Amino acid sequence: MFDKILIANRGEIALRVIRACREMGIASVAVHSTADADAMHVRMADESVCIGPPSSAQSYLSMPALISACEITGAQAIHPGYGFLSENAQFVQMLEDHDITFIGPRAEHIRIMGDKITAKDTMKALGVPCVPGSEGGVSDVDEAKRVAAEIGYPVIIKATAGGGGRGMKVAQDETGLEVAFRTARAEAKAAFGNPDVYIEKYLQRPRHIEIQVFGDGQGRAVHLGERDCSLQRRHQKVLEEAPGPAISPEERERIGRICADAVARIGYAGAGTIEFLYEDGEFYFIEMNTRLQVEHPVTEAIFGVDLVRQQILVAAGRPMEFQQDDLTINGHAIEVRINAEKVPGFSPCPGKITQYHAPGGLGVRMDSALYQGYSIPPYYDSLIGKLIVHGRDRNEALARLSRALGELIVDGVDTTVPLFRALLEEPDIQTGNYSIHWLERWLERHYG
Ligand code: ADP
Repeated sequence: MFDKILIANRGEIALRVIRACREMGIASVAVHSTADADAMHVRMADESVCIGPPSSAQSYLSMPALISACEITGAQAIHPGYGFLSENAQFVQMLEDHDITFIGPRAEHIRIMGDKITAKDTMKALGVPCVPGSEGGVSDVDEAKRVAAEIGYPVIIKATAGGGGRGMKVAQDETGLEVAFRTARAEAKAAFGNPDVYIEKYLQRPRHIEIQVFGDGQGRAVHLGERDCSLQRRHQKVLEEAPGPAISPEERERIGRICADAVARIGYAGAGTIEFLYEDGEFYFIEMNTRLQVEHPVTEAIFGVDLVRQQILVAAGRPMEFQQDDLTINGHAIEVRINAEKVPGFSPCPGKITQYHAPGGLGVRMDSALYQGYSIPPYYDSLIGKLIVHGRDRNEALARLSRALGELIVDGVDTTVPLFRALLEEPDIQTGNYSIHWLERWLERHYG
C-alpha cells in the first residue's frame, strides 16, 4: 500500500480524497496555487506544496509542477479528483515514466473514452446500445445533410473532443443544419482545439441515466446501479439521485450487467461512469467518464461503500472489497450542487463567506471546503458544496433535503440554494417526473 498520496485538485474533492487517505492510514499531500494558500484542503492535508500562480494552467494543470511536488514530498501516487488532469492520458503516461502511480484507469482507456467517436465505436463493439448517428466523424455540410436525412430530424451535432456540455448544437431541419454544423465546428475548435464533430439523433425528452462501474484491472468488474442526472442547465448537472425514479430493478440489472461486462472485457481499472440517455425503456450510450464523478456520493450512500477507498486499493494492486452479489441498494439518495452563483442568471459570485453553518443529522452529508471567513477565489469552478441526503425511500430523502437546506447557512455570496428550495415545491420534482429539458423550461417559466 502507498505511504503517501498527492491530491492534484482543490476544493471539496480534495477533502474527499484526504478523508479516505486518513481512514486508510495514508499520509496526504495537498497542492495549491497562490490563490488557494488559505484553502481548507491545504489546512487539512498532512503536507502541502505551492505549485504556481492562480491560473489553473500554471498550477493545477501543470504536469511538471505536480511531478516535482511528488518528488519533493515522496508521494508515491496521485489522485486526480475530477476535472483538471483526471482524464488526461498524457499525464498518466508521464507519471508512469516517473514511477508515480496514477489513481485511475490506464492511459489507453482514458484515450479511447476521451475521443467520443472512438468511445462510441468501442462501446458498440462491446454490445452497449448507442444513439443512432453518423459512423464516425462528419467533415462537410453535404455529408452532414446526408446523415441527418437518414437518421431523421432533429439531430444534434457534437464535438468529438467535447466535454462539460460544450460544443453541442441542435438542428431541427436542413436549413438549421448548415448553421449548426458550422458553429459547432467553430466552437469545438475554439474550446478544444479540435474541430471534429459527429451527428446523433436528438432525443426529445430523455432522461440522463448513468451507470457506475468499477473494474479491478484484471478482467473483473461490477456495476453499482444508476444515477439519474436529468435535472440539467445548459447540459450541466444540477441535482442527481439514485436509484433513478424511472428505472425498474429488471432494467437496472440488464443495463448494469452490460456495462460491467463491457469494462471487464477491456480490463478497465478503477471507477468509471457510462452515461446514457434513456427514453421509452431504451438506453442509448453517449459517453464514458474515466474518473470519479462529482455525484458519486449518492451511489456511496445507497450501497454503503467508499468509492475513493476502492480506487486507492485497486491502484495499489489490491482486490476490490466487494463483488456484484455483495452490492445491494439501501434506500434513496439525492445530491444538490451548491454553486456560488446568482440565480437566475447563474453568473459566478466569488467573495468572502461571512457566515457558514453546515447541516447535519441522520442521513445528511455535506461535502464542502467552505469555512467562515474563507474567500472564494474567482479563478476556478463555482461549485462550493454538495449536499447529499439519504433516506429509506425517495420521500424521506426529499423531506430530509428540505430540512437540511433549511439548516444550511452560507452568507456573503449568492448561491443556488434558493433554486433548490423552489424546486422542492414542484410536483414534478416531488414525483420524479422530469426529463433533461425540464429545468430549462421551468427556469424560463419562472424567470423568463
Ligand atoms: P459532455 O461530455 O459535454 O457532458 P454528453 O455527450 O455527456 O456531453 O452530453 C451532455 C448532455 O447533452 C446530456 O446529458 C444531454 O442532456 C445532452 N445530449 C447529448 N446527446 C444528446 C442527444 N443525442 N439527444 C438529446 N440530448 C443530448
